Amino acid sequence: MSSNVENVVIVGTGCAGLTAAVYTGRANLSPLVIEGNLPGGQLTTTSEVENFPGFPEGVDGFLLTDNIRKQATKFNARFQQSMIKSVDFSSQPLKLITSEGEILTKAVIIATGASPRMTGVPGEKELYGGKGVTTCATCDGAFYRKMEVAVIGGGDSAAEEALFLTRFASKVYFVHRRDTLRASKIMADRATTHPKIQMVWDSAPTEVLGVQENAVTGLKIKNVKTGAESVLPVKGIFVAIGHQPNTSAFASAVEVDEAGYFKPVNGSQVRTKTPGVYVAGDCSDHVYRQAITAAGMGCQAAIEVERWLAEYGG
Ligand code: NAP
Repeated sequence: MSSNVENVVIVGTGCAGLTAAVYTGRANLSPLVIEGNLPGGQLTTTSEVENFPGFPEGVDGFLLTDNIRKQATKFNARFQQSMIKSVDFSSQPLKLITSEGEILTKAVIIATGASPRMTGVPGEKELYGGKGVTTCATCDGAFYRKMEVAVIGGGDSAAEEALFLTRFASKVYFVHRRDTLRASKIMADRATTHPKIQMVWDSAPTEVLGVQENAVTGLKIKNVKTGAESVLPVKGIFVAIGHQPNTSAFASAVEVDEAGYFKPVNGSQVRTKTPGVYVAGDCSDHVYRQAITAAGMGCQAAIEVERWLAEYGG
């Protein structure tokens, strides 16, 4: 067991965690950054990011996070690959039990992100990320100008994605496994009456076509009431069946809402009830979920840590 007490440990290396690393590094706090099993976070699964300010030509998602990581390293952030198994935030120093051993620290920024839920049908995994299957219309919708696309889901996210996609796509098939949407009435009304959106009720995806071509060529669906199978001739498939925030390792120590997202307190986006413990990015945000908003929360959490350590950190 190490008796070293870190100033700040940042858990997660998506936009939120890496931005927190840049800021805490630049504040001379020598942050230790814990990298899990998807270094770089969700951005590394999209091809091009066209809406991150400062990149008029767009920027590759992997390159963007890799650059933020280099920036953090320049300011003496240290990286360790491990998984958090459990935590004890009941007293100072805070304790993190990782797959590589125990870490003690004065402050923690949890930026573990959220994982999009996937349907698991054949072809989906193979064609995910730049090959036609995606989970973010805001990120990838503009690549499907004048093309036909499908949205899978039935909640507010799916309705929002479908409506957003009408700006680009020639037609949006909205595929839902039941005959009424789960989405709020206002969103459901907007989606179901939109001239570019065709509702495909009672239908579940059974296969994403195009694995041999290495690009989506269609979506095979099955009507769950009649059993009839058909193919939607789409080039893009937007899976919007919800997200799973990666908060379970911390759920005993940090308050979460009914969907599992961290619940910040005191009118802040990043403070928790426990002094020295902060959250940032998609693990506590199911509304905006953008690289730039995650980066902004990482910045906020880092500034909170700096102030907290200056006041109480010794
Ligand atoms: P959600 O409300 O949980 O909806 C998930 C949808 O995906 C459901 O309609 C579900 O079908 C469907 N689904 C689940 N697993 C599936 C599968 N394997 N195959 C096919 N369909 C599947 O998730 P969400 O839409 O991401 O919303 C999450 C929360 O964020 C909600 O509270 C929502 O109101 C909120 N949100 C709000 C806004 C807004 O206010 N603008 C925008 C986005 C999200 P069933 O209906 O049959 O279960």
